[in-house]
Amino acid sequence: MLLNEYQLRIVLPECNFSAQTVNAIATVSKDISPVFPYLNAVLKGFQYNDQEKILTIKRKGHLITFRPREIAITKLEDEKEAREVMEELRQIVNETDQNREHIKPDYNSRKELKSSEILKFLPKTNCKECGEQTCFAFSYKLVRRESDITKCTLLFLEQHQEKRKSLLSLLQGSGYEVPEEHFKSDSN
Ligand code: SF4
Repeated sequence: MLLNEYQLRIVLPECNFSAQTVNAIATVSKDISPVFPYLNAVLKGFQYNDQEKILTIKRKGHLITFRPREIAITKLEDEKEAREVMEELRQIVNETDQNREHIKPDYNSRKELKSSEILKFLPKTNCKECGEQTCFAFSYKLVRRESDITKCTLLFLEQHQEKRKSLLSLLQGSGYEVPEEHFKSDSN
């Protein structure tokens, strides 16, 4: 098993000691970097530096950085959540490692999205249903993962199905988590 034992430390986020969340750093007993290009393919990593052996992903609201002997996780409620996330990561790392011969390694970083690219696929009515004043403001928040695509309810109407699928593919290709049901559902 590639990732077996680890030691977990809970740390406060830098420069924000009043933060409601904590970070965690797991020091792992073996060098796990050989699996990084495969993990990058499976998890659609946000950034990958093959030379430095650093893989960063965004998952369930956490920024997760893998280094050869360390995994850092941000925005955790407490140690209990840190342990749950680490257990999930341990399973993913080990399953990916066991399936390496069936996975095409990916040595690339994802393309960083711009608000203007997202805006092209929004209904552009500035209807404020998403809670933002304009579609552009929504696209700005979306690109920073501060909002959720489902808040634009208009986009989930049948008439915007093509735009929605294009936008979801764009988000997915850039390392955003997009549940498969979003590709199908229509709100009417
Ligand atoms: S709900 Fe959609 S269409 Fe309406 S303002 Fe927000 S992003 Fe624009």
